[in-house]
Amino acid sequence: MTFSSLGLSKDLLDAVKVAGYEAPTSVQQQVIPLILRGQDVIAQAKTGTGKTASFALPVLQLVQASVSGPKKVIKALVLAPTRELAMQVEHAFKAYGRQLTRPLRTITLIGGLNIDLQIRNLHHGADIAVATPGRLLDLIKRRSVDLSMLNILIVDEADKMFDLGFAEELAAVLNALPPNRQNLLFSATMPEKVVVLAQKFMKAPVQVKEEEGAPTAELIYQRVIDVNRTNRGPLLRHLIQTEQWAQVLIFVASVRDADVLVVKLLKADIQANAFHGGLTQAQREHVLKEFKTGRLRVLVATDIAARGIDIKKLPCVINYDLPRSPNDYIHRIGRTARAGEKGVAVSFVGHEDQAHFRLIEKRCRVRLSRESIKGFELTGQPPPGTKGPAPVKGRRMSKKDKARALALKEGR
Ligand code: AMP
Repeated sequence: MTFSSLGLSKDLLDAVKVAGYEAPTSVQQQVIPLILRGQDVIAQAKTGTGKTASFALPVLQLVQASVSGPKKVIKALVLAPTRELAMQVEHAFKAYGRQLTRPLRTITLIGGLNIDLQIRNLHHGADIAVATPGRLLDLIKRRSVDLSMLNILIVDEADKMFDLGFAEELAAVLNALPPNRQNLLFSATMPEKVVVLAQKFMKAPVQVKEEEGAPTAELIYQRVIDVNRTNRGPLLRHLIQTEQWAQVLIFVASVRDADVLVVKLLKADIQANAFHGGLTQAQREHVLKEFKTGRLRVLVATDIAARGIDIKKLPCVINYDLPRSPNDYIHRIGRTARAGEKGVAVSFVGHEDQAHFRLIEKRCRVRLSRESIKGFELTGQPPPGTKGPAPVKGRRMSKKDKARALALKEGR
């Protein structure tokens, strides 16, 4: 199939050409014609398979067609869970929109940046806004943003946005939008309960889903290494020094763990930096840019880097700490093997993580063999009390989850 068979305008076909895309990916083939037809869509597609373009291209076309006078009012709104993802999505809109004969204006409305500047920018008008919910609500409360002409709402990482940490804010944003609009939901993971919730505010949405099979991207080689928790640091240094990975993204459980690990890596002469919600926005942007451009080899991050962030040709992701939920596992390891590239995902599993990792395997419908690295073999016995069922995210938040949600919120 070719892009030209999907109903995109010449300008947007030029944009695709400039981006260097030869053929539409599976999600693009399915979703672009539906969006152009004005359908509500709930789309689930594997990580790194071009979801952004699957909504950005047709939305640009629809917005372009609906622009009437010279005054710019927000016609399409994208919601994303983190500031960096919002910026990345806006960047994609800008890049694809560059070929339009009548250019559209895009704007990001995210926390951590000067709100007055965003208000001033809003005064100049914008056709498409990409926002994190907290800042958008702030702007709505101040009556600084006019959403009365909104035609299209896109919720990226939709399952995350319906999750406990965001649900209230999302509901408040939805309340502030005109009811007559096209709704588009995207994620690599779309639990049934999200689909049920979403259908309440959507109009007969068409569901686009992966074919049955493991929800993890095929091009990721998933490795699981048995190692004692106390030996993870030395093993990590050993792997970084012996494997030929050009870059490594390491996930840990908390801001503090990220900072501590970076200090240890630097002591071992491994160039590394941390990326988490405890940094200023300027620091976050700087570190991510260093990593995205390949100037930084090792990035130690919390789950704020787990969703949507597109790092070209990233060869390796390491779960130093396991993610709490299987869905987070899918998103974390999906930072590698994007756009048809291959990648490796390594998970460290100690005695106390075995049950939890089995749950991740079950939910991801994979069975992975365990590796043992010479000199770092798992020793000792599982401590008592670790054989029970692994923690599953329930309806009520644990203390830790509350803290995480707060950290994420602050970091947004
Ligand atoms: P996304 O899943 O939207 O983050 O996209 C993942 C990566 O795939 C991005 O780097 C895109 O530039 C790239 N991409 C999107 N569509 C295509 C395509 N049709 N062919 C090749 N690469 C693509």
